[in-house]
Amino acid sequence: MTMIGDDLQQVRNRIAQACVTAGRDAAGVRLLAVSKTFGADAVREAHAAGQSAFGENYVQEGLDKIEVLADLRATLEWHCIGPLQSNKTRPVAEHFDWVHSIDRLKIAERLSAQRPANLPPLNVCLQVNVDGGANKSGVTPDEALALAQAVAALPQLRLRGLMAIPEPAPDFAAQRELFLRAHALFESIRKAGIELDTLSLGMSADLEAAISAGSTMVRVGTAIFGGRARKPA
Ligand SMILES: *Cc1c(COP(=O)(O)O)cnc(C)c1O
Repeated sequence: MTMIGDDLQQVRNRIAQACVTAGRDAAGVRLLAVSKTFGADAVREAHAAGQSAFGENYVQEGLDKIEVLADLRATLEWHCIGPLQSNKTRPVAEHFDWVHSIDRLKIAERLSAQRPANLPPLNVCLQVNVDGGANKSGVTPDEALALAQAVAALPQLRLRGLMAIPEPAPDFAAQRELFLRAHALFESIRKAGIELDTLSLGMSADLEAAISAGSTMVRVGTAIFGGRARKPA
């Protein structure tokens, strides 16, 4: 097996083990492979090892990979997980399958208006700021229900759930506590009558804590593709 294939298998094993520990069914946690900064060849290799969902932070970088990998398009699912500015919504609406980082209505309205009619609705998650981190993206917990109601009403979007990126905490219990805030918000929005099935929580370093707090989708980069030298411009 290739190195990426081996690393993918290790991440799958971690997810399976975390589900056993949490008393959860492993089928309830999806793996999103975060391929930002890695080339199309790395995505192709992961795909050959059975991975179909990929996350990208930077719109242009994602678009370039989607184009290079057009031959695999029918079996790939592309997720935009980075902050999204309003002047970048059109290509995202036209080429991605999911957006995890909706933090204001204006972005959602543009995505809905720009989603081509021949494609299924764009799957979206609201990014929530559960730890009040300064200059952090994400809607505050207080505003999340109103935003969820407004987004759920948009015709070309399908609201799937919430995404959060809490600050790294010193230990498992503290990390889990931050993730549990996102889970509580997720449950309260569901109780208000909005159907949600996705809680996008957890990365390479903290996926076990996220799964113990109810994550249904972990976004994993480093543990699959290796370290990133630096954040690209
Ligand atoms: C980079 C990134 C990830 C993956 O982080 P790793 O620590 O490399 O697993 C997950 N989610 C978001 C939003 C990211 O930007």
